[in-house]
Amino acid sequence: MWVEYYQLPKNAGICCEHCGTYIRNVFTIHFDDGFSLKCGVECYNKLMKQSNISQYGEKLLKKKIKLLKLYDEMRSNWTRWNTPEEAESDGCFQRIEDPEKPGFWRIRTQSEFEEEKEFVLNDLIPYRINLVQSEIKEKFKRVTIPHE
Ligand SMILES: [Zn+2]
Repeated sequence: MWVEYYQLPKNAGICCEHCGTYIRNVFTIHFDDGFSLKCGVECYNKLMKQSNISQYGEKLLKKKIKLLKLYDEMRSNWTRWNTPEEAESDGCFQRIEDPEKPGFWRIRTQSEFEEEKEFVLNDLIPYRINLVQSEIKEKFKRVTIPHE
């Protein structure tokens, strides 16, 4: 099996496919037979307990999910930010070394910010998510969860 994680925007949640509860933090479990299940954290934990994952594997998988959460947060932050000032007031450093004045650091201009946003959203984050996703597929391919 392998797992995906993402958070849905406010008022855009879905029902857990395992218990029916409204959820925004979605774990998608992909089973080896091609079947997949979108569920919330409680059902995810319950189903993982029924799997044959080792204690070590469980810890490792938690770390990988944490990374997926981080990248997902990064994605929603960068999607929300429209100016470098907005990003900075949220704690995302927007200073760069001025190409014309080496050693002088200044805040990104609007167009530099937009270029960075484009890169982060369309290049960096998808790349990192892909990397973690392939690691999960590789490391947990022998983990199975019984399901109906
Ligand atoms: Zn559930």
